[in-house]
Parts: sequence; structure tokens; C-alpha cells
Amino acid sequence: MKKWEENIRRVVPYTPGEQPKVPGMIKLNTNENPYPPAPGVRRALQEMEEEGFRLYPDPACSSLIEALSERYQRPREQFFVGVGSDDVLAMAFLTFFNSGRPILFPDITYSFYPVWAELFGIPYERPALDEEFWIVKEDYVRENGGIIFPNPNAPTGLYMELEDVEEILGNNPDVVVIVDEAYVDFAGPSALELVDRYENLLVVQTFSKSRSMAGMRIGFAVGNPCLIKYLNDVKYSFNSYTMSQAALELGAAAVRDEAYFQDKVKRLVATRERTKKELRALGFRFPDSGANFIFASHESCPAKEIFEALRERRIYVRYFDAPRLRDYLRITIGTDEQMDTLLKALKEITSEKG
Ligand SMILES: *Cc1c(COP(=O)(O)O)cnc(C)c1O
Repeated sequence: MKKWEENIRRVVPYTPGEQPKVPGMIKLNTNENPYPPAPGVRRALQEMEEEGFRLYPDPACSSLIEALSERYQRPREQFFVGVGSDDVLAMAFLTFFNSGRPILFPDITYSFYPVWAELFGIPYERPALDEEFWIVKEDYVRENGGIIFPNPNAPTGLYMELEDVEEILGNNPDVVVIVDEAYVDFAGPSALELVDRYENLLVVQTFSKSRSMAGMRIGFAVGNPCLIKYLNDVKYSFNSYTMSQAALELGAAAVRDEAYFQDKVKRLVATRERTKKELRALGFRFPDSGANFIFASHESCPAKEIFEALRERRIYVRYFDAPRLRDYLRITIGTDEQMDTLLKALKEITSEKG
């Protein structure tokens, strides 16, 4: 190693899912939404004023925060927004996990958590999910420097009931607990309703999945105003203008179309439930997902072979070559038509190789 290399911060980065650009592909590998964003989003883009490009954006992100505040019926001081929830979560790690004691998150979960912990020098421990992939809430009763888990969890899709989330909160009043709700709109009640009772709770959500806006990079956090102020202090010490003016205006337009949002979420959940039935009939097993994906394993056909055979047919799903995960495929829920094509391919592949 060169002398100058010795003092460089070296990290093992997060590996994002691939973004292939193959004509006619069916892309079910990164949990994007198959439906377009609300029609008002495109209108807002067309109506963007010249100032939106020429001037710096509003550092306080007021237009988006105002829209979120109305939609969720909570004061503006409870909101923080960022460049996707990845940005919000990274800021939250940097802000809240500073005790020197290990933070806790599940052994199987969103694989960005250990990357941020390493990057920021935060010690961490990873309690194992049980045999059925459930988070064991009793494992989160021990000294720690903070807690984070997704609900529903990724890549399992399992949704933890709010009373169990509340039990974890009740057992950890002295640290910040972050609930990453990237998929909650497809599942059950959000931990948002606990924010007023637990001042150490930060709930993080994203526009990437349920609002079909992964490309715009919009995420937000909700917590008591004191937590939000600490987050803002760190943000303004790092980059005052995280979100583009376009993202702020387009995000606000999306939040204002509640009917469209409800309709598309409902449709996606119906497709997911139908897909579960058909996958079961083909010999797949999976945790009962509350998200916009299914984490499925076949009774006889190895996941990696299915993954590769699907790929040859230009159907992209996600495969994780890691212990406890390598028998599974994570399949994003697309449109009904896309799922029909997938199921037909799976039927052929599993009867050939099974
Ligand atoms: C998708 C996802 C995110 C990140 O989403 P952004 O696109 O950065 O908003 C965060 N957490 C989990 C669990 C996710 O699945």
C-alpha cells in the first residue's frame, strides 16, 4: 500500500440492485412501483418556473413539509425530508447513534445499516431473526446505543404488529429507536401514531415505493420536534441544499393526490395476494409478506437456477448470495400482466428443473 493510501477512509460500499436497460424487460428486482406517479406530478414538472432551476432550492423544504403536514395531520415541526430515505437514515445514524455503545438491528435486514454503521464508526450487534424470519422483540431488551429495524422488514416482508413495536419502545426509553417504514403503506398501521407518546421514536418513510417516485429521491422522517431539530442541525452542517426544487414540488404534488395513492396501493396489494396463491400452487414457500415484494423459496428448485433462468427471459428478480438467504428470491410485485408473465415462466422453469 502507498504511504498516502494509509490514511484514506476505506469502506465496503452497499451494493444496490442492478438497473438493467434491456428492451422489453420485466423489472422486479428493486421494489419499484409498476404504476406511474400521480398525474399532478407530471403537471408540476411542466409548470416548474425558471427560478426553480436558476436559484438554490428552499433549504427548509417548506412546500413539501407543508404538504406532508396536511396529509398526515401533524405539525410541520415533526417532519424532516431528504434525498430518499437513504439520505434521511444516514443523517439519523450520524445524529442519533453517538453513544459508543452498540446499536441493534436484525441479522437479516436492509443491508445499508451495517454500511452506515461502519462508515460512521458506530459499533453494532445483530440479533438473529427466528426460524420463521420474525424479529424477536425480547432480543432488544439489553444495553444498547440505539435501535433500528424496518417494518415490514426487508427482504422478508414480515410486518410486526404495532403493540410489539411499542413493547420495544417501552423497553428502550433512553435511546433513539428508528422504525424504517419503507413498505408500511402496503402493510398495516404505521408507527406514526406512537410519535406523540414516545419522544425517542423516529419513523422514516419514502416516496420510492408506494408513491412511484424512486427516481426523484424523496424520503422523510417524523418525530418529536426536538429530534427533528437535532437532525436539521446535522443536515445544515453537511449540505444545506439536499433536495432539488423539482423534488420538493413534485413530491408535494404527489402527496396532494390521496385518491390516486389509495387506489394504486389497493391494486398492488390485490396483485400481491393473488400472486401468493399462485406461487403456493407452484410449490413456493414464503413469509407472509406485507410489502410490495415476496421473499420466496421453491420446494425443489434452487433459487439461483430460477434466478438465472428468469434472467434469460429478461425477467429480473433479486437474489442474495448470503447465508439463510440463498434459497430465496425476492420478487417485486408488478402489474397483473407482469405477474402473469412471471408465473408462466416460473411454472416452466420449476417443472423443468424441479
Ligand atoms: C427501499 C428502502 C429504503 C430506501 O429507499 P429510498 O429510495 O432511499 O427512499 C430504505 N429502507 C428500506 C428497508 C428499503 O427497502
